[in-house]
Amino acid sequence: MSGRRPGPGLVEDLVRLREDLHREPEIGLDLPRTQAKVLAALDGLPLEITTGGGLSSVTAVLRGGGPDTGDGDRPVVLLRADMDALPLTEKSGVPYASKVEGRMHACGHDLHTAMLVGAARLLAEGRDGLRGDVVFMFQPGEEGHHGARLMIEEGVLEAAGRRPVAAYAVHVASSMLPSGWLLTRKGPLLAGADALRVLVRGRGGHDSQPQLLKDPVPAAAEMILALQTYASRGFDPFDPVLLSVGSIHAGTSANIIPDEAELKIGVRTFGPGAKAQVVDGVTRVLEGVAAAHGVTVTVEHAMDYPVTVVDPDEADFAAGTVEKVLGPGRLVWAPNTLSPSEDFSFVLDRVPGAMLFLGACPPDRDPGKASFNHSPDAVFGNEVLGDGALLLASLAEERLAAAG
Ligand SMILES: [Zn+2]
Repeated sequence: MSGRRPGPGLVEDLVRLREDLHREPEIGLDLPRTQAKVLAALDGLPLEITTGGGLSSVTAVLRGGGPDTGDGDRPVVLLRADMDALPLTEKSGVPYASKVEGRMHACGHDLHTAMLVGAARLLAEGRDGLRGDVVFMFQPGEEGHHGARLMIEEGVLEAAGRRPVAAYAVHVASSMLPSGWLLTRKGPLLAGADALRVLVRGRGGHDSQPQLLKDPVPAAAEMILALQTYASRGFDPFDPVLLSVGSIHAGTSANIIPDEAELKIGVRTFGPGAKAQVVDGVTRVLEGVAAAHGVTVTVEHAMDYPVTVVDPDEADFAAGTVEKVLGPGRLVWAPNTLSPSEDFSFVLDRVPGAMLFLGACPPDRDPGKASFNHSPDAVFGNEVLGDGALLLASLAEERLAAAG
């Protein structure tokens, strides 16, 4: 199958599925319409299909035709697509634009879903030549909902009976890369992300008697400044921390000292070292400032996405597969870790693998000027669906052959 492009019938089906998903985006962990469309698209293929308990995921296993020696060492490869959209009103102007106000597939996950369906069809066609098994992971809730972690807790890594030897995902980009170009990196590819909700509790009352009260507002203000100092002084400059207080709220009136102040803090890290220590360090700074002011502080860890780390050998393998099936000169190596985050990182924490970005800027636009993912006018072209499906299928097929 490697190198054989998907036929026009398959590409037409993928375009139809992608546009159908795009018109009807769903958000978070509960994507019932999307799940139904994926199940319908996989119907008739020789797959073992299960759906999620706590989220509307779809896990499909394709058993290859390679010998089953019965000693449990038949290799498994996992391919992943995320399926959720974003809370955004679409302004792209495409004919298949979202019909739902306030929801848009602005990160291209509709393309990921269609490409993985395409890979399942290609691999099912070539099933007899497969040297092992393939797990197709259709995942809700990538956009901050820990969908990948929840699927791991529900057993996706054991879906074929054995742990995968490798895992791969392709993510489209509406700018940055020309259409059909790929990008990856050895080691940290994407930032880790943490979100913290901080509640500073004091004792409120009449503003004329501050000596009788514990004002949480100056304590919160000092926390914000102390955290910026900690972020710039507490870490190796080559393993930095990006920390933003994105929300601050306290009080109702000029003459009332409030009981509480709330901060919402976003943190991005670019290597496992800073990631491992930043939440404890931030908590220590907050508690120290709180103690100095005689107030208390509680820290809720609302989001925790690891740094997305690409295994160097798997990066080389993926680059070789790109060259073999799509041709030379299509892959660029990112010089630095990119600042977005991904919950495929939970899979790559447990299974060696690679993630690749695929340029999906429509060919008639300038990728240097087009709007990036998460913009209301971001456009992802259908032209890449065939290549994306072929690449995912080939990564699985070639990796199984190498492992077998
Ligand atoms: Zn995304």
